[in-house]
Amino acid sequence: MSYPDSFNTVSIIYGTIFHMKKMKKLIIGNWKMNPTSLAEAKKLAGDIKKGLKMVKNTNVVMCPPFVYLGPLTSIPSNKLFFGAQNASAEISGSFTGEVSHVQLLDFKVSHVILGHSETRARGETDEGVNKKVRAVTYEGMTAVLCVGESQRDKEGNYLHHLKNQIHKGLEDVSRKSLPHVVIAYEPVWAIGAKYAMTPSDVHETSIFIRKILRDMYGPVADNIQILYGGSVDITNALEIVRDGFVSGLLIGRESLKAKNFLEIIRQVDTL
Ligand code: PEP
Repeated sequence: MSYPDSFNTVSIIYGTIFHMKKMKKLIIGNWKMNPTSLAEAKKLAGDIKKGLKMVKNTNVVMCPPFVYLGPLTSIPSNKLFFGAQNASAEISGSFTGEVSHVQLLDFKVSHVILGHSETRARGETDEGVNKKVRAVTYEGMTAVLCVGESQRDKEGNYLHHLKNQIHKGLEDVSRKSLPHVVIAYEPVWAIGAKYAMTPSDVHETSIFIRKILRDMYGPVADNIQILYGGSVDITNALEIVRDGFVSGLLIGRESLKAKNFLEIIRQVDTL
């Protein structure tokens, strides 16, 4: 399937609200396959929403499991955006167990995490991720393209790996679609780990990623937000964003603890 160089107007409303606030920092919570009940999901979302009242400079996106999107996105808020953790590039049809990117439109989803290392580990290819990026951006939602190396080596092979993931993930994604693209740099070895990457390494890698994007798209690529993800918590979030010079964070475990998640947001909001 190929996606024309224009957007579907049906989905623009939530994308537009988001992009009006775009130059703010961005913090995305990836709930993964948690929590185990709707009651807990509602409590968590409610607590986070309440705590966002004072937040001024940060957009917050919460990505619950698909089954909670309906009930949670019916809680109106102009501070909290909702995202999905994946989406099929197919529109409809015989794809048991999949959720179409088009089906997400009714649930006010502004962002879709794509190419997370956990979905890649289950067999997702760069080509498959690319198809999803094109499908999601075509519908006016923002694709959060996850890239990251499994390990670092002295020879710098991980840099080739990163470059390759970005090139393939953004293949045939036009300049016009770039406002709907976010890169989440998540070194796989730092996800669910004890320690995050150091801010100086985050900075170095974000410069490398920016250079790849510039080589692909020219100066307009400077508007693409680059996030860091991997073992972010209340002790390292501020330094990672400030000294790593990233636009925000993709957070797993700590996004399930309202108090900690809000504290991270509060810290980043001061920058
Ligand atoms: C993630 O899975 O995207 C992630 C960053 O997880 P954690 O924050 O738990 O390392």
